[in-house]
Amino acid sequence: MLVLKDVTAHYGTSQALFGMSLALNAGSVVTLLGRNGMGKTTTINTIMGIVKASGGSITFDGEELVGRASFRTANLGLGLVPEGRQIFPNLSLRENLVATASNHLGVADPWTIDKVFALFPELETRVSSMGNLLSGGEQQMLAIGRALMTNPRLLILDEATEGLAPLVRRKIWDALEQVRAEGMSILVVDKNLADLMRIADHHHIVQRGEVVWSGTTEDLRADEATRRQYLEF
Ligand code: ATP
Repeated sequence: MLVLKDVTAHYGTSQALFGMSLALNAGSVVTLLGRNGMGKTTTINTIMGIVKASGGSITFDGEELVGRASFRTANLGLGLVPEGRQIFPNLSLRENLVATASNHLGVADPWTIDKVFALFPELETRVSSMGNLLSGGEQQMLAIGRALMTNPRLLILDEATEGLAPLVRRKIWDALEQVRAEGMSILVVDKNLADLMRIADHHHIVQRGEVVWSGTTEDLRADEATRRQYLEF
């Protein structure tokens, strides 16, 4: 579904991606792992067209994404839950959800506000609250709901559980498992390896702007040396 081949990216003269290659099959949950500053966020932002690739190819169901404007990439069915949530602080929870609602792809059973509330019941009681008055966990659930309202086929999450209490993290992973059970493909960056091993099928470890290890959850569980070398923080 998503294929990155030899992708490079720069911030000015400083290179951040040095030939990123990875693949994600439809219906799977795939992670990008690695320590801080290794290029995971840059990879996601390059897929979304927020950072421009300086070389290589990124295809989504065969369509080239390199050189495409961000909104056109989103319209192809990629939904981003960005690092730091970035919800609209001066809009109510409901308005945040309505703001992104679209169904460009003519999905048969599109996401609605009620469907988001069924996934995250705690949001319903806060429907009129302003974005900036929501707790961190509520903001994160809202950020996920807002991405779902675009009816993506691939949901991309960058540090979706950062700074959240274990109970809230659990709610978010449970919700993502539910979404996945409905057929959603998911690409996720997170630091909570134990949670990711529970939900993900395939992992890519990113080190200095390239993938240095790929494998299944079973492979990663069995490979203590790799975990110790690249993933202990
Ligand atoms: P983290 O978990 O800390 O977000 P990451 O693996 O997502 O880390 P990136 O944020 O993609 O890593 O950073 C990759 C490299 O690019 C780092 O060396 C970082 O300093 C650099 N970088 C990231 N954003 C910028 C920017 N806006 N301008 C310049 N350099 C940047």
